[in-house]
Amino acid sequence: MSTPSTELEQWDKEYVWHPFTQMKTYRESKPLIIESGKGSYLYDTEGNRYLDGYASLWVNVHGHSEPELNRALIEQVEKVAHSTLLGSANVPSILLAKKLAEITPGNLSNVFYSDTGAAAVEIALKIAYQYWKNLDSEKYASKNKFVSMNEAYHGDTVGAVSVGGMDLFHRIFRPLLFERIPSPSPYSYRMTDLGNEKAVKDYCLTELESLLKSHSEEIAGVIMEPLVQGAAGILTHPEGFLKGVEQLCRKYDVLLICDEVAVGFGRTGTLFACEQEDVVPDLMCMGKGITGGYMPLAATITHDRIFNAFLGEQDEHKTFYHGHTYTGNQLACSLALKNIELIEQRNLVADIQRKAEKISAKLDTLYELPNVGEVRQRGLMIGIEIVKDRTTKETFSVQEGVISRIIQNAREHRLIIRELGSVITMMPILSMTDEELHTMVDITYRSIQEACESLAVR
Ligand SMILES: *Cc1c(COP(=O)(O)O)cnc(C)c1O
Repeated sequence: MSTPSTELEQWDKEYVWHPFTQMKTYRESKPLIIESGKGSYLYDTEGNRYLDGYASLWVNVHGHSEPELNRALIEQVEKVAHSTLLGSANVPSILLAKKLAEITPGNLSNVFYSDTGAAAVEIALKIAYQYWKNLDSEKYASKNKFVSMNEAYHGDTVGAVSVGGMDLFHRIFRPLLFERIPSPSPYSYRMTDLGNEKAVKDYCLTELESLLKSHSEEIAGVIMEPLVQGAAGILTHPEGFLKGVEQLCRKYDVLLICDEVAVGFGRTGTLFACEQEDVVPDLMCMGKGITGGYMPLAATITHDRIFNAFLGEQDEHKTFYHGHTYTGNQLACSLALKNIELIEQRNLVADIQRKAEKISAKLDTLYELPNVGEVRQRGLMIGIEIVKDRTTKETFSVQEGVISRIIQNAREHRLIIRELGSVITMMPILSMTDEELHTMVDITYRSIQEACESLAVR
């Protein structure tokens, strides 16, 4: 017999420390305990069905308990679950690396596996740093710093936090971190004093250029989230910003690292976001959607010029001394292979584009609500900035509880979505139908409306 949900709730509160969660508040609330999933829906221990409007934290591609992915996992587990990439190879990791080389932009061809997006970022930073040292440790002795964007999010390990720009999450850890050079990111909605989107983009690129011009001999690389800064609140960049950053990196001889952990695998309407501006980074980080939302896997891919700089005799110490115990795990790699195969077979990327276009007219109706400041969308990545006042763009304080009320209302209407600060996000499962996407927006509309009406009554 299964454990009753009252006991599970008690043990959850007693034993599990949830991420990014104030546990005091959590312990006072009713937890959502998921028991199963099917297609676009999750089911809790009490049998309630919820539409998964956050793709289980931006990872799910083809739906929950997808028969073909299930079969791929079972087939692999019956062969072997795990052996190591230290001193041996395995079949799925070889096939997946070849596949990733084929589907990623340009000449990217050498894959280093890890198991979370943050690790994929750490690896990219360490490779970029060591690349210059391997080339010429004297000439590039001071190329030790990284540029990253304001409000950047690259994960929660110490190196990834070092290049992070979200003060709320990162402030407390400052003394532990290595120095980063911040560069302004084009947050057009809150930079209107500079003018339109193009003016904001030009300003940000000019600032980046001036710091590259004066510091490029100290800079190993620039790291950025291409097209959309996810965790910052779905900040959609103006057209041409990514391309502009790439051109500046080439001009001043610093490496470009694109963190596709959130935007990769179809989310923005192309398989990888870099494709939309014809950009080929020197290092690209992948995670989240790579296994279709089944297992933890991440990868960092680079090209021959960087890879070759690590070749040498044992005693030259050009080796990349880095690795994780579960690097290249067979179960995760088989799932990733099957995930990519299904994306191709089902023409999912074209379908995402079509659905994104279709839902965008529906999203415009959100502007009927006076507290909706801006609706931002790239593919199936959507952020709704909630403000007290459209003119001043002032946000609600946490104490006012409006944002948490919206999320709670949605849950009561059987939709799971999450907030990022003052931004309500919708990150649907990529295989959702038009009808399900419609429902997601409808419920979100209603949840915002109810929260703001109750505020007016108070
Ligand atoms: C989620 C995310 C990460 C971190 O990935 P984890 O798997 O949580 O470590 C890194 N970069 C971006 C852009 C992300 O959205």
